[in-house]
Amino acid sequence: MTDGSARARGDVDAGAPAAPDPDGPIHDVAVVGAGAVGLLLACLLARRGLDVVVLERREVAPPTTASSRAIGIHPPGLRALDAVGVGEEVRRRAVPIRDGRVTCEGRVLGAMRFPGSGIVRSLPQREVEALLEDRLAAAPSVRIRRGVEATSVRDRGTHVVVGGIEAGVPVEVAARYAVGADGVRSAIRPLIGADWSRRRGRGTYVMCDTRDDTGAPESALLHFEPAGVVESFPMPGGRRRWVAWVRRSPAEPDASAMATIVSSRTGAGFPTDAAGAPTAFEAAQHLAVPLAAGRVALVGDAAHEISPIGGQGMNLGWSDAVHLDRDLAGALAAAAPIDVFAAYDRSRRAAATRAMRQAAFNMRMGAPASGFRLRARNGAVRVLALPGLRGVLARAFTMRWL
Ligand SMILES: Cc1cc2nc3c(=O)[nH]c(=O)nc-3n(C[C@H](O)[C@H](O)[C@H](O)COP(=O)(O)OP(=O)(O)OC[C@H]3O[C@@H](n4cnc5c(N)ncnc54)[C@H](O)[C@@H]3O)c2cc1C
Repeated sequence: MTDGSARARGDVDAGAPAAPDPDGPIHDVAVVGAGAVGLLLACLLARRGLDVVVLERREVAPPTTASSRAIGIHPPGLRALDAVGVGEEVRRRAVPIRDGRVTCEGRVLGAMRFPGSGIVRSLPQREVEALLEDRLAAAPSVRIRRGVEATSVRDRGTHVVVGGIEAGVPVEVAARYAVGADGVRSAIRPLIGADWSRRRGRGTYVMCDTRDDTGAPESALLHFEPAGVVESFPMPGGRRRWVAWVRRSPAEPDASAMATIVSSRTGAGFPTDAAGAPTAFEAAQHLAVPLAAGRVALVGDAAHEISPIGGQGMNLGWSDAVHLDRDLAGALAAAAPIDVFAAYDRSRRAAATRAMRQAAFNMRMGAPASGFRLRARNGAVRVLALPGLRGVLARAFTMRWL
């Protein structure tokens, strides 16, 4: 399955104009996209004093109060944030998720406690992005150019030229390497000829944040109900995120409909008076193949779309960035040209495949079930929650395999 990137590849190979290179400097690395992953990569490269330009099409960053996609930060993600000096502040602002409980029709099927170093932290993605961007503001070798939408990439053999549009005017930026960190709808991915191949795991969910009245402010609560999963997770400020499987996306999700879903399936209350705007999302999974070509690599959601059920996409992207930082530093320091992204392509594809498998499993477990299927599913959860297996499961859920 592909999104037609072969056509895009043809466009680039055949149609790349023999334009002269831009007059400006040749940077070490051009990063396209200032999302959570592009920003972390730029921070990592900045520690090495590398000359980095980040191109971001949004003129201003969304406010930290804007509704957030990711909230879950797993131990390997926190290690990456520590490496760039924002981990302590993240720990200070985040709420710890120390344990998780799976129930069905009021009965506990299993519970797990995350060990001290293995706890998950919950902090809205936007807040982490703002911390990373503040960090970059103090990095003399990095510049973020907001309002630049990248539209082309030309590999010149010794360097790359990224073309784009800034305030309606064409611009070009040259760098020895370029990285597409431009999200699921990446413009860079088809330009390097990568296919976007669909992987297993698909579902529709509604999501809404509200006040946490559960009395379990440090617990993830997973209700595996016959009518479909309802999950909820603590957030800072005494709030809680609720996510529920639905058969189809509602035309206009609203808080009272969310309250009905939550209470009819789980019996739990959902305070509509304190609810934010609900959203619906389609969870799907895709992998870019390959993850790099020539002097251009993909990272984060541009490289892999992981279902949010399990909360892994951003953390996986940060782990990509840690690998890429090392590989780029090695390549920039090498006296002779090297095949810089071969190991990256292999290892990150394997990591993404594992994360997708786990997310697909999570989605299957939370699908509606009745009769024999429900009993078999609940039996499986009970077995997985037995002391011998619980540790393995906790390790998987907190991404300590990364
Ligand atoms: C509902 C939901 C909940 C989630 N929860 C979690 C969670 O708890 N934990 C977790 O790990 N993950 C979670 N995720 C996944 C996580 O949000 C993504 O994996 C993460 O945002 C990926 O970051 P990114 O920087 O790769 O891409 P993005 O965040 O999409 O950033 C891409 C950036 O590139 C810019 N851009 C795009 N095109 C261009 C262009 N042509 N030129 C210049 N700039 C461009 C965009 O404006 C954007 O700023 C969740 C996702 C969803 C939808």
